[in-house]
Amino acid sequence: MLRLPPFEYHAPTTLGQALKILEQSGPSALVVAGGTDIYPKMKRRQFQPKTLISLRNIKRLTGIQGSKNKGFVIKACTTLSEVAQHSVLHKAYPGLTQAVGLISTPILRNMGTLGGNLCLDTRCNYYDQTYHWRKSVEWCMKAPGPKGVVLDPSEAPAEPVPCRVAPGGNRCWAVSSSDSAPMLIALGAKIVLASAKGERELALKDFYRDDGIHYIAKNSDEILTEIHIPPPKGLKSIYLKLRRRGSFDFPVLGVAVALKQAQDETVTECKIVLGGIASHPVEFVEAEKLLIGHRPTEELIEQAAQLVFGPTRPMDNTDLHLYYRKRMAPVYVKRALRALATV
Ligand SMILES: Cc1cc2nc3c(=O)[nH]c(=O)nc-3n(C[C@H](O)[C@H](O)[C@H](O)COP(=O)(O)OP(=O)(O)OC[C@H]3O[C@@H](n4cnc5c(N)ncnc54)[C@H](O)[C@@H]3O)c2cc1C
Repeated sequence: MLRLPPFEYHAPTTLGQALKILEQSGPSALVVAGGTDIYPKMKRRQFQPKTLISLRNIKRLTGIQGSKNKGFVIKACTTLSEVAQHSVLHKAYPGLTQAVGLISTPILRNMGTLGGNLCLDTRCNYYDQTYHWRKSVEWCMKAPGPKGVVLDPSEAPAEPVPCRVAPGGNRCWAVSSSDSAPMLIALGAKIVLASAKGERELALKDFYRDDGIHYIAKNSDEILTEIHIPPPKGLKSIYLKLRRRGSFDFPVLGVAVALKQAQDETVTECKIVLGGIASHPVEFVEAEKLLIGHRPTEELIEQAAQLVFGPTRPMDNTDLHLYYRKRMAPVYVKRALRALATV
């Protein structure tokens, strides 16, 4: 049996208290929302925070507000089940409720939160392993020693540890595996990050970095509090997910498409964002440009889908064969565009 390492636990009831504890505890502290990702990681010693701050008792961090006309604010600690089953949200952004409804399992969705999903750690076959497995391969760049991920930079090992996927390189290739992130980026969502110093708003697309270790632009003293989604105004959306098991599994490819057509069926807006293929959700601007300003035909959809093939470069560090995953990217984009577009 894997056991949790020792840690100090706080369960504040206000955001102000949580931010104060976070600031006072420094980088060796982490927040926990649903705990569906962080606790297994602590058991495997990928994370060993000295302090854990629970967000579960903070009422102002849960709930869904808004309407199809005004757009929506989803509080960060709203559970995935609430988001997936919200009928008004579903009418406005079917792609979002689809994406969230495909995350893990019903039981985990009852605990897991949307904020936790957006902050979800990147994944890799060499990283998501037990302590003893990782020790046997002499650790990896992302978790370079017995303490796992270095939370406090002053505790970094003296000798750099290579990436086990691409040992010659100087970066970590762990993969962004959040199902909700590509869809929320395609919908133009913004997020609010709070710290003891104040709040800042950020476009969700700017939250993610092409870096398996420092994968989000969140400072260690910040808490994600809200997700803002603009009104759809005719934007249709869909999310398709490729995974080994249909019942539950992380995505090895997630395709989020949002599309708007004028009355004469000309495409006026299009976002194509893929997850599970890189350290961050990737937007395919060239494919979007090909569609915007045109009436979609079978040929145009085929051409746009083929444009994602070249730049999709998955690494051999998640489930399923990497060439299969690359070849499935245009197939899934085509399916998504066909389902959304009036041809
Ligand atoms: C068996 C299994 C299958 C899974 N399948 C999927 C899947 O298919 N797709 C998928 O996307 N995910 C999957 N997950 C991962 C996880 O369940 C979800 O991503 C979930 O949404 C995480 O939310 P949480 O509230 O439990 O996060 P936590 O575990 O509480 O936290 C996750 C990370 O986010 C940080 N965090 C959480 N909330 C905040 C906040 N408000 N502000 C700042 N930082 C925060 C934590 O510090 C931690 O680093 C799976 C997990 C398991 C165990």
